[in-house]
Amino acid sequence: MSENENKVALVTGASRGIGKACAIELAKAGYNLAISYAGNDEAANKTVSELTELGVKAKAYKYDVADKEACQKAVEEVLKDFGKIDVLVNNAGITRDGLFLRMSAENWEAVINTNLNSAFYMSSSVIKTMIKQRYGCIINMSSIVGIMGNAGQANYSAAKAGLIGFTKSLAKELGSRNIRVNAIAPGFIQTDMTKDLDTEKIAEHIPLKRLGQTEDIAKTVKFLAEDGLYITGQVIGVDGGLVV
Ligand code: NAP
Repeated sequence: MSENENKVALVTGASRGIGKACAIELAKAGYNLAISYAGNDEAANKTVSELTELGVKAKAYKYDVADKEACQKAVEEVLKDFGKIDVLVNNAGITRDGLFLRMSAENWEAVINTNLNSAFYMSSSVIKTMIKQRYGCIINMSSIVGIMGNAGQANYSAAKAGLIGFTKSLAKELGSRNIRVNAIAPGFIQTDMTKDLDTEKIAEHIPLKRLGQTEDIAKTVKFLAEDGLYITGQVIGVDGGLVV
Protein backbone atom coordinates (compact mmCIF):
# COMPACT_ATOMS: atom_id res chain seq x y z
CA MET A 1 0.00 0.00 0.00
CA SER A 2 1.40 3.38 -1.00
CA GLU A 3 1.86 5.83 1.85
CA ASN A 4 0.16 8.42 -0.37
CA GLU A 5 -2.91 6.30 -0.94
CA ASN A 6 -5.13 8.76 0.89
CA LYS A 7 -3.45 11.94 -0.25
CA VAL A 8 -5.28 14.25 -2.59
CA ALA A 9 -3.92 16.79 -5.07
CA LEU A 10 -5.92 19.41 -6.95
CA VAL A 11 -4.21 20.64 -10.11
CA THR A 12 -5.82 23.45 -12.10
CA GLY A 13 -5.47 23.48 -15.89
CA ALA A 14 -4.55 19.81 -16.00
CA SER A 15 -6.35 18.67 -19.15
CA ARG A 16 -3.20 19.41 -21.16
CA GLY A 17 0.40 20.55 -20.98
CA ILE A 18 2.25 21.19 -17.74
CA GLY A 19 -0.77 20.62 -15.50
CA LYS A 20 -1.45 17.23 -17.04
CA ALA A 21 2.18 16.15 -16.54
CA CYS A 22 2.01 17.33 -12.90
CA ALA A 23 -1.16 15.32 -12.33
CA ILE A 24 0.42 12.20 -13.83
CA GLU A 25 3.60 12.58 -11.77
CA LEU A 26 1.59 13.01 -8.56
CA ALA A 27 -0.59 10.02 -9.48
CA LYS A 28 2.57 7.94 -9.94
CA ALA A 29 3.44 8.95 -6.37
CA GLY A 30 0.05 7.61 -5.25
CA TYR A 31 -2.00 10.81 -5.01
CA ASN A 32 -5.66 10.83 -5.90
CA LEU A 33 -6.25 13.60 -8.41
CA ALA A 34 -8.83 16.31 -8.84
CA ILE A 35 -8.06 18.16 -12.05
CA SER A 36 -9.64 21.30 -13.45
CA TYR A 37 -9.98 22.59 -16.98
CA ALA A 38 -11.74 25.33 -18.95
CA GLY A 39 -13.58 23.63 -21.80
CA ASN A 40 -11.59 20.91 -23.56
CA ASP A 41 -13.73 17.92 -22.51
CA GLU A 42 -11.93 15.45 -24.74
CA ALA A 43 -8.49 16.28 -23.33
CA ALA A 44 -9.79 16.30 -19.75
CA ASN A 45 -11.49 12.92 -20.14
CA LYS A 46 -8.32 11.47 -21.65
CA THR A 47 -6.26 12.76 -18.72
CA VAL A 48 -8.73 11.28 -16.22
CA SER A 49 -8.54 7.86 -17.87
CA GLU A 50 -4.72 8.01 -17.96
CA LEU A 51 -4.74 8.87 -14.24
CA THR A 52 -7.22 6.13 -13.44
CA GLU A 53 -5.04 3.63 -15.31
CA LEU A 54 -2.30 4.51 -12.83
CA GLY A 55 -4.54 3.08 -10.10
CA VAL A 56 -5.65 6.29 -8.38
CA LYS A 57 -9.00 8.01 -8.06
CA ALA A 58 -9.35 10.88 -10.54
CA LYS A 59 -12.07 13.31 -11.52
CA ALA A 60 -12.20 16.41 -13.74
CA TYR A 61 -14.01 19.65 -12.88
CA LYS A 62 -14.90 22.11 -15.63
CA TYR A 63 -15.02 25.73 -14.50
CA ASP A 64 -13.35 29.08 -15.11
CA VAL A 65 -10.54 29.72 -12.60
CA ALA A 66 -11.07 33.45 -13.15
CA ASP A 67 -14.52 33.17 -11.57
CA LYS A 68 -14.39 33.43 -7.75
CA GLU A 69 -17.74 31.71 -7.09
CA ALA A 70 -16.94 28.93 -9.55
CA CYS A 71 -13.62 28.28 -7.74
CA GLN A 72 -15.35 28.12 -4.35
CA LYS A 73 -18.02 25.77 -5.68
CA ALA A 74 -15.44 23.51 -7.36
CA VAL A 75 -13.38 23.22 -4.18
CA GLU A 76 -16.55 22.32 -2.24
CA GLU A 77 -17.27 19.59 -4.80
CA VAL A 78 -13.70 18.28 -4.62
CA LEU A 79 -13.93 18.12 -0.83
CA LYS A 80 -17.25 16.25 -1.10
CA ASP A 81 -15.74 13.80 -3.60
CA PHE A 82 -12.27 13.33 -2.09
CA GLY A 83 -12.62 14.37 1.58
CA LYS A 84 -9.49 16.54 1.67
CA ILE A 85 -6.94 18.48 -0.36
CA ASP A 86 -3.27 18.08 0.57
CA VAL A 87 -1.68 19.69 -2.47
CA LEU A 88 -3.00 22.56 -4.59
CA VAL A 89 -1.19 23.38 -7.82
CA ASN A 90 -2.34 26.73 -9.21
CA ASN A 91 -1.31 26.01 -12.77
CA ALA A 92 -4.07 27.15 -15.15
CA GLY A 93 -2.95 30.08 -17.25
CA ILE A 94 -3.33 31.90 -20.54
CA THR A 95 -1.41 34.42 -22.61
CA ARG A 96 -2.83 37.39 -24.55
CA ASP A 97 0.42 38.83 -25.88
CA GLY A 98 0.80 42.22 -27.51
CA LEU A 99 2.90 45.34 -27.29
CA PHE A 100 1.84 47.59 -24.44
CA LEU A 101 0.98 50.50 -26.76
CA ARG A 102 -1.78 48.38 -28.26
CA MET A 103 -2.72 46.31 -25.21
CA SER A 104 -6.46 46.44 -24.51
CA ALA A 105 -7.85 46.53 -20.98
CA GLU A 106 -9.70 43.34 -21.92
CA ASN A 107 -6.46 41.46 -22.60
CA TRP A 108 -4.86 42.91 -19.49
CA GLU A 109 -7.77 41.82 -17.29
CA ALA A 110 -8.17 38.38 -18.85
CA VAL A 111 -4.54 37.52 -18.13
CA ILE A 112 -4.51 38.97 -14.61
CA ASN A 113 -7.80 37.25 -13.75
CA THR A 114 -6.85 33.85 -15.15
CA ASN A 115 -3.22 33.70 -14.01
CA LEU A 116 -3.18 35.70 -10.76
CA ASN A 117 -6.66 36.24 -9.31
CA SER A 118 -7.34 32.53 -9.84
CA ALA A 119 -4.55 31.66 -7.39
CA PHE A 120 -6.21 33.88 -4.77
CA TYR A 121 -9.65 32.37 -5.42
CA MET A 122 -8.37 28.78 -5.32
CA SER A 123 -6.02 29.22 -2.36
CA SER A 124 -8.60 31.06 -0.26
CA SER A 125 -11.09 28.28 -1.00
CA VAL A 126 -8.78 25.47 0.20
CA ILE A 127 -7.01 27.24 3.04
CA LYS A 128 -9.46 26.47 5.86
CA THR A 129 -9.30 22.78 5.01
CA MET A 130 -5.50 22.83 5.00
CA ILE A 131 -5.41 24.65 8.34
CA LYS A 132 -7.78 22.05 9.81
CA GLN A 133 -5.63 19.24 8.42
CA ARG A 134 -2.50 20.94 9.82
CA TYR A 135 -0.88 20.19 6.49
CA GLY A 136 -0.85 21.73 3.07
CA CYS A 137 1.30 22.41 0.05
CA ILE A 138 0.47 25.13 -2.45
CA ILE A 139 2.47 25.46 -5.64
CA ASN A 140 1.95 28.47 -7.90
CA MET A 141 3.00 28.23 -11.56
CA SER A 142 4.82 31.48 -12.21
CA SER A 143 7.28 32.04 -15.08
CA ILE A 144 10.74 33.40 -15.76
CA VAL A 145 9.05 36.46 -17.25
CA GLY A 146 7.64 37.22 -13.79
CA ILE A 147 11.28 37.67 -12.75
CA MET A 148 12.82 39.36 -15.77
CA GLY A 149 9.86 40.79 -17.76
CA ASN A 150 9.30 40.33 -21.47
CA ALA A 151 8.47 42.74 -24.28
CA GLY A 152 4.97 41.98 -25.52
CA GLN A 153 3.92 40.35 -22.25
CA ALA A 154 3.31 43.22 -19.80
CA ASN A 155 0.04 41.60 -18.68
CA TYR A 156 1.45 38.08 -18.34
CA SER A 157 4.69 39.26 -16.67
CA ALA A 158 2.70 41.32 -14.16
CA ALA A 159 0.50 38.34 -13.33
CA LYS A 160 3.47 35.99 -12.94
CA ALA A 161 5.40 38.54 -10.82
CA GLY A 162 2.26 38.96 -8.70
CA LEU A 163 2.23 35.22 -8.08
CA ILE A 164 5.76 35.45 -6.68
CA GLY A 165 4.81 38.15 -4.14
CA PHE A 166 1.68 36.18 -3.28
CA THR A 167 3.75 33.01 -2.76
CA LYS A 168 6.27 34.67 -0.45
CA SER A 169 3.62 36.42 1.64
CA LEU A 170 1.47 33.31 2.04
CA ALA A 171 4.53 31.28 3.00
CA LYS A 172 5.22 33.73 5.83
CA GLU A 173 1.60 33.73 7.02
CA LEU A 174 1.00 30.01 6.83
CA GLY A 175 4.31 28.43 7.83
CA SER A 176 3.21 28.11 11.46
CA ARG A 177 0.22 26.04 10.21
CA ASN A 178 2.53 23.59 8.44
CA ILE A 179 1.38 24.88 5.06
CA ARG A 180 4.17 25.41 2.56
CA VAL A 181 3.77 27.75 -0.39
CA ASN A 182 6.22 27.81 -3.27
CA ALA A 183 6.34 28.95 -6.87
CA ILE A 184 7.91 27.43 -9.94
CA ALA A 185 9.28 29.67 -12.67
CA PRO A 186 9.40 27.62 -15.88
CA GLY A 187 11.39 28.82 -18.86
CA PHE A 188 10.26 27.75 -22.33
CA ILE A 189 8.39 24.45 -22.00
CA GLN A 190 7.03 22.56 -25.02
CA THR A 191 3.22 22.78 -24.78
CA ASP A 192 0.32 24.23 -26.78
CA MET A 193 1.20 27.60 -25.21
CA THR A 194 4.60 27.70 -26.94
CA LYS A 195 3.77 25.73 -30.11
CA ASP A 196 3.94 28.76 -32.42
CA LEU A 197 7.39 29.89 -31.25
CA ASP A 198 10.60 29.34 -33.22
CA THR A 199 11.92 26.64 -30.90
CA GLU A 200 15.27 26.16 -32.66
CA LYS A 201 16.09 29.85 -32.35
CA ILE A 202 15.01 29.93 -28.71
CA ALA A 203 17.07 26.84 -27.85
CA GLU A 204 20.24 28.62 -29.04
CA HIS A 205 19.84 31.11 -26.16
CA ILE A 206 19.24 28.50 -23.47
CA PRO A 207 22.39 27.26 -21.70
CA LEU A 208 21.08 23.66 -21.80
CA LYS A 209 20.32 24.14 -25.54
CA ARG A 210 16.81 22.75 -25.47
CA LEU A 211 13.29 23.68 -24.49
CA GLY A 212 11.94 22.08 -21.34
CA GLN A 213 9.54 19.17 -21.31
CA THR A 214 6.39 19.15 -19.21
CA GLU A 215 7.94 16.35 -17.14
CA ASP A 216 10.75 18.72 -16.10
CA ILE A 217 8.15 20.85 -14.30
CA ALA A 218 6.12 17.90 -13.07
CA LYS A 219 9.12 16.35 -11.33
CA THR A 220 9.74 19.64 -9.54
CA VAL A 221 6.11 19.76 -8.40
CA LYS A 222 6.40 16.22 -7.07
CA PHE A 223 9.67 17.14 -5.30
CA LEU A 224 8.07 20.17 -3.63
CA ALA A 225 5.02 18.15 -2.60
CA GLU A 226 6.85 15.10 -1.31
CA ASP A 227 10.47 15.78 -0.49
CA GLY A 228 10.96 19.52 -0.04
CA LEU A 229 9.39 19.57 3.39
CA TYR A 230 11.68 22.34 4.67
CA ILE A 231 11.19 24.49 1.57
CA THR A 232 8.69 27.35 1.62
CA GLY A 233 8.44 30.81 0.09
CA GLN A 234 10.81 29.88 -2.74
CA VAL A 235 10.72 30.40 -6.48
CA ILE A 236 12.26 27.39 -8.17
CA GLY A 237 13.56 28.18 -11.65
CA VAL A 238 13.16 25.30 -14.12
CA ASP A 239 14.46 27.00 -17.23
CA GLY A 240 17.56 25.28 -18.59
CA GLY A 241 19.71 28.06 -17.13
CA LEU A 242 17.99 31.04 -18.77
CA VAL A 243 17.79 33.00 -15.51
CA VAL A 244 20.90 32.67 -13.39
P1 NAP B 1 -1.54 25.04 -21.95
O1 NAP B 1 -0.89 23.86 -22.60
O2 NAP B 1 -2.09 26.13 -22.78
O3 NAP B 1 -2.71 24.46 -20.98
C1 NAP B 1 -3.48 25.37 -20.26
C2 NAP B 1 -4.36 24.62 -19.29
O4 NAP B 1 -5.06 25.59 -18.49
C3 NAP B 1 -5.42 23.76 -19.95
O5 NAP B 1 -5.69 22.66 -19.12
C4 NAP B 1 -6.64 24.71 -19.98
O6 NAP B 1 -7.90 24.01 -20.04
C5 NAP B 1 -6.46 25.41 -18.65
N1 NAP B 1 -7.12 26.72 -18.60
C6 NAP B 1 -6.87 27.81 -19.37
N2 NAP B 1 -7.67 28.83 -19.01
C7 NAP B 1 -8.45 28.38 -17.99
C8 NAP B 1 -9.50 28.94 -17.22
N3 NAP B 1 -9.90 30.20 -17.41
N4 NAP B 1 -10.10 28.17 -16.29
C9 NAP B 1 -9.70 26.89 -16.07
N5 NAP B 1 -8.70 26.31 -16.76
C10 NAP B 1 -8.09 27.04 -17.71
O7 NAP B 1 -0.54 25.75 -20.92
P2 NAP B 1 0.87 25.25 -20.33
O8 NAP B 1 1.92 25.64 -21.28
O9 NAP B 1 0.75 23.85 -19.87
O10 NAP B 1 1.01 26.24 -19.08
C11 NAP B 1 0.60 25.87 -17.77
C12 NAP B 1 1.04 26.96 -16.81
O11 NAP B 1 2.46 27.11 -16.87
C13 NAP B 1 0.45 28.32 -17.12
O12 NAP B 1 0.16 29.01 -15.92
C14 NAP B 1 1.57 29.02 -17.87
O13 NAP B 1 1.47 30.41 -17.75
C15 NAP B 1 2.76 28.48 -17.13
N6 NAP B 1 4.00 28.56 -17.91
C16 NAP B 1 4.12 27.92 -19.10
C17 NAP B 1 5.31 28.02 -19.81
C18 NAP B 1 5.53 27.33 -21.12
O14 NAP B 1 6.59 27.53 -21.72
N7 NAP B 1 4.62 26.50 -21.58
C19 NAP B 1 6.36 28.81 -19.31
C20 NAP B 1 6.19 29.46 -18.08
C21 NAP B 1 5.01 29.33 -17.39
P3 NAP B 1 -8.56 23.56 -21.47
O15 NAP B 1 -7.74 22.39 -21.97
O16 NAP B 1 -9.95 23.18 -21.13
O17 NAP B 1 -8.45 24.74 -22.38
